[in-house]
Amino acid sequence: NYSLDQLRAIDNAHHLHPFTDHKDLRAAGTRVVVSAEGPFVYDTEGNEILDAMAGLWCVNAGYGREELVEAATAQMRELPYYNSFFRCTTPTPTLLSQKLAEISPGNINQVFYGSSGSESNDTALRLVRHYWALEGRPEKNIVISRNWAYHGSTIAGTSLGGMEAMHAQLYGAVPNIRHVMCPYAYENAEPGESDHDFGLRAAKAVEDAILEAGAENVAAFIGEPIQGAGGVKIPPASYWPEIQRICEKYDVLLMLDEVITGYGRTGEWFAAQSMNIKPDTITTAKGLTSGYQPLSALLVGDRIANTLVEKGGEFYHGYTYSGHPVACAVALKNIEIIEREGLIDRVREDTGPYLGDALKAGLGDHPLVGEIRTCGLLAAVEIVRDKSTRERFQPAGSAPVVIRDHAIASGIMMRAVMDTMIMSPPLIWTRETVDMAVERIGKALDLAQADLAT
Ligand code: PLP
Repeated sequence: NYSLDQLRAIDNAHHLHPFTDHKDLRAAGTRVVVSAEGPFVYDTEGNEILDAMAGLWCVNAGYGREELVEAATAQMRELPYYNSFFRCTTPTPTLLSQKLAEISPGNINQVFYGSSGSESNDTALRLVRHYWALEGRPEKNIVISRNWAYHGSTIAGTSLGGMEAMHAQLYGAVPNIRHVMCPYAYENAEPGESDHDFGLRAAKAVEDAILEAGAENVAAFIGEPIQGAGGVKIPPASYWPEIQRICEKYDVLLMLDEVITGYGRTGEWFAAQSMNIKPDTITTAKGLTSGYQPLSALLVGDRIANTLVEKGGEFYHGYTYSGHPVACAVALKNIEIIEREGLIDRVREDTGPYLGDALKAGLGDHPLVGEIRTCGLLAAVEIVRDKSTRERFQPAGSAPVVIRDHAIASGIMMRAVMDTMIMSPPLIWTRETVDMAVERIGKALDLAQADLAT
């Protein structure tokens, strides 16, 4: 067994971390998580921390699921690997595809696998452009996305995404991707503008971009139903139906990125169902296996899939681990658990609304809290210096980092995104877990307020 200091020294010597300032990391020291059970993770010091982020928005079924371990080991013994290229398959990706077709919106019946959300978005981008080429319209290849979108960190994912800091490090983006405003009412609605009207205005930005590019040149619009890494930005109810209408009007494909919202988070299998829209593609990963194995599934609607089949010709695209049998075995078992335990109904009918009510009742009046928004088990707490003017602390994003550190010390793992604290807990949370979370966040806010006042 290694001590924390030993692990930190080895880590500093050899490990480059994702999304990390390595100079800062050397100064602050790595946090080392060593085990987990149910809703909790444990570090080297034995601290028990309530994981309000479900890892990175992914451990939907919670930690310590023996059944998932058994599904993986049984599959490894039987057939640890074989591919799905060249007219082959193995049973688990085939059966998983059938299951995904059953639980996804009615127009979706085909699945293309990868190992990560980023890969799956690469697939989606290539596929929609290929679709229009097969339809004899290769010039229809512009994709419209939004500011603050996160679609992964490969070159295509970063280009599709709308994070300025990431674009600044692209050194050459994928061409023909354009960005429009995102539906973030707290910062972007005009004084007196209703939520409904703001949602329509944000959708109109997409229509304007289509008209500016010429609808004959626009392949697709891509969006996360709720922007996750951008700060759990929940659009007004008017937004998505209007986007669907606009896409249909201009014959633009609708691509949803449900890497975060998929597999129960909003109280349905997919947010497309919560929002009653019918996308042409849905990118999914994370909660598909509850993070126990790396796996992504691009759900492909009939329109695109039928063209692929009818026009024929090889789509030159795929990954060694597309449809990995072990990852797919774990996904099948994970979906079975979510169904058997009724976790999605519970989010929709009980814990989701309860989380919203408890956060608002417990923290809504706190001087640092400007707004609380939730959808299912996704939540955002806007942090402000002044509640009435919505003035933020300077520099931007500085206060949430202070709150996050107090939150972890108070026993709850949250994430700070610019001026927003966010949560995306495992779907196994109960009312008691929610109460525990609210109490710990309240403590962190009080401690942070004392720091920020000085
Ligand atoms: N899309 C969304 C909406 C995400 O939140 C993420 C990851 O957080 C991704 C894509 C990328 O997924 P991955 O990190 O598995 O590549």
